[in-house]
Amino acid sequence: MHILKFGGTSVGSVESIRQVIRIVTTHRQQETPLAVVLSAMSGVTNQLIEIGRMATDGQTDYMELVRRIEDRHFNVVKALVPVKEQGKIVAAIRGTVNELEDLLRGVSLIRELTPRTMDLIMSFGERLSNLVVAECVKASGLPAVFCDARELIKTDAQFGHAEVNYTQTNPLVQAYFAQNNGFSAPIPFVTGFIGSTEKGETTTLGRGGSDYTASILGAALNADIIDIWTDVDGMMTADPRKVPNAFNIPTITYAEAMELSHFGAKVIYPPSLQPAFARNIPIRVLNTFNADHAGTLVSRTADRRQYTITGISSIDDVALVNVQGSGMIGVAGVSAKLFGILAQHKISVILISQASSEHSICFAIDPKGADRVKTILDEEFAADVASGHIDNISIERDLSIIATVGEGMRKSSGIAGKLFSVLGKNGVNIVAVAQGSSEINISVVITKNNLSKALNALHNVFFQSEARVLNVFLVGTGLIGQALLRQIHAQSEFLRQEKLLKICVVGLANTKKMVLDTKGLDLTDWETRRKTEGVTTSLPAFVEKIKSYNLPNSVFIDCTSDKDIVQHYESLLDANISVVTPNKVANSGSYAEYRRLQRTALNRGVKFLYETNVGAGLPIINTLQGLLTSGDRFLKIEAILSGTLSFIFNTFKPGTQFVDVVREAKEKGYTEPDPRDDLSGQDVARKILILAREAGFALEPDDVSVEKILPPSCLDAPTIPTFFDALKAENGYFDNLLATADARGEKLRMIATFENGKAVIGLRGVGPEHPFYQLTGADNIISFTTERYKERPLVIKGPGAGAEVTASGVFADMVSIGSYLG
Ligand code: ADP
Ligand code: ASP
Ligand code: MG
Repeated sequence: MHILKFGGTSVGSVESIRQVIRIVTTHRQQETPLAVVLSAMSGVTNQLIEIGRMATDGQTDYMELVRRIEDRHFNVVKALVPVKEQGKIVAAIRGTVNELEDLLRGVSLIRELTPRTMDLIMSFGERLSNLVVAECVKASGLPAVFCDARELIKTDAQFGHAEVNYTQTNPLVQAYFAQNNGFSAPIPFVTGFIGSTEKGETTTLGRGGSDYTASILGAALNADIIDIWTDVDGMMTADPRKVPNAFNIPTITYAEAMELSHFGAKVIYPPSLQPAFARNIPIRVLNTFNADHAGTLVSRTADRRQYTITGISSIDDVALVNVQGSGMIGVAGVSAKLFGILAQHKISVILISQASSEHSICFAIDPKGADRVKTILDEEFAADVASGHIDNISIERDLSIIATVGEGMRKSSGIAGKLFSVLGKNGVNIVAVAQGSSEINISVVITKNNLSKALNALHNVFFQSEARVLNVFLVGTGLIGQALLRQIHAQSEFLRQEKLLKICVVGLANTKKMVLDTKGLDLTDWETRRKTEGVTTSLPAFVEKIKSYNLPNSVFIDCTSDKDIVQHYESLLDANISVVTPNKVANSGSYAEYRRLQRTALNRGVKFLYETNVGAGLPIINTLQGLLTSGDRFLKIEAILSGTLSFIFNTFKPGTQFVDVVREAKEKGYTEPDPRDDLSGQDVARKILILAREAGFALEPDDVSVEKILPPSCLDAPTIPTFFDALKAENGYFDNLLATADARGEKLRMIATFENGKAVIGLRGVGPEHPFYQLTGADNIISFTTERYKERPLVIKGPGAGAEVTASGVFADMVSIGSYLG
């Protein structure tokens, strides 16, 4: 015997029913008797519930909804049954719908909807779908017969969630199939989801219960296999609707499947695994719309897997009940009493967690029952509260549960550590934790608004052959921003293959327009998209969007030199969003502000990276931090930190005039529009300030002294041309400086020095023994004298400006966040 169960979407439309007929036909060709179980057409059960409610409320337009359900079934008949046979089927549908209408009229008269009546109303979904599909199958040339499961499946009277009485059910099922036996017998199309009490009242087996019907039949008939045909390729590592990277699990044990489905993988209704498990009947989960896919085989054993966990599932909406009080400590029987009460009221508990101090017990329940539970417990524990044994009973709502499941977890350590660390890094607070003693499930309760982020982050980390995703938000699409986007685009394949990292640029903004797309922007046409679809940039709005998306592994990149944007760093870091920037403003303000950002990043477990604050892409800050964290101490930092000033003093040699050199630098685009902005040394001051802070010194901006290079006449010149005139007039002054240095065999260099807690910037003469003597072009050079590098300082030298190298430094910072995610 082979049981085939098709879910709601598999019988949801004419096209899907065609597919069902194809699958049944293929199986019929094999020499095994078949039984088919069908759900209601997709959406119908929900509509029937709605119709029932409308009728109770006295609304009359429920008839419109009934018509729609009826029409859906008529349309199937019209499409799949030859015209001359349609009449009697349409009449049968009509007859069944009439019965429903009579029932609804009764409900709307007495204005009362008992669970018993609701079950009867819901039963029409499966009754109609099986009636219609059985006829369509007949029309396709296969013998088929409609079978009402209420005749076979006997239950108690717990309407909405009836329990099966196997002693009565099994013989009835066996007797029915004994009559309809043999290969040529018509294929029974059995209504899923429904049964009846001893008195013959209709019951239902719980939402999603058609799977259960298939398993009950399979167990009673000792079937060879039970197929659950649905709309996905078997059981997946997570719900594919919530985790786009989820993938198929080829084989899984009953225990794992039970844990996954109990914790929300609705692809199988949890109780349905039990009867099959007890008789050791394998279940396959298959895709009606991709019938060649092998799906998932659920049985006693599973193949060896590459991953330590098998899957992740979630229950989206739970409430947590917390019972706490000092009087609970060591007092036996509080939990016995508590769970006794819950059992007595048939309140199902999803998860329980008790602190070892015994000070509190909390448990998760369906939020729909939360008020009732609170009332019951308040009443039952009134005496304990009055006597002070229990402080209070509180309910927390808007929570979700995530469960990681897998037999592989039993044998390996560190799973819980990984789980907590991923959630921590993504700012997901854990409200409660539970691990089953079977060790194949660790469950955590989190706030509902973090569910999607948590699921995707966990999936990324536990199923790492899939690339981890870094969600990037970029502000500033000038030269550096553009170069960065080009580099991300060019390296994306490499990063994916070699670093298992996928960079997804979710948002882009410049001063004019911003565009965001959680699916990621195509980096070949981001500019057009920003122009055509972008909205006027508002930084606060951009930042709010980033926070509200709440995507895992988010990184904010600021490629501007803007002052306002920096105000948002702290709140971004606080929302567990890493920040990467070449913008020096944040780190060169007050020391308190600098520390605050560092602290916030540290507390939140995210990164604030700014390697490009000094020397563009040169590895200066990373080197410095590496030395410091490994225990080295800084004695002196000397540096040429401005490409412009480097060029000017490398070019200013005997025989040249200072004014001409500055003019050349300006013409080559090396200087700011007003060269005095470079020559003032202010930018260098900010850089040495940052380096000193990174080396562990609490410097304020005022602590950096800048010796003036320019005579007052040049500084005071009102315009740029008059500045050049003044510079020319002061030729003698600069010649003099140069000649003095030259006479000593030295070269002039604009050097920033940090030593003995003081930072000074000024023009110095350096001799051939000095590492800065040989500098050429517009290079930067930094020399660190430390306890370890005392004899010969550690020197880093190279181009310290330019969009490409700056962008590559930003790029490296960004990628390092990806690898830190683990
Ligand atoms: P049917 O109507 O066939 O009974 P359901 O809607 O009850 O189908 O169950 C199938 C759905 O279960 C899938 O579309 C998928 O969104 C959801 N689902 C949740 N978790 C998982 C999982 N781990 N693997 C596969 N599907 C899952
Ligand atoms: N039709 C029922 C429901 O929607 C049963 C099922 O689909 O399995 O819950
Ligand atoms: Mg289902």
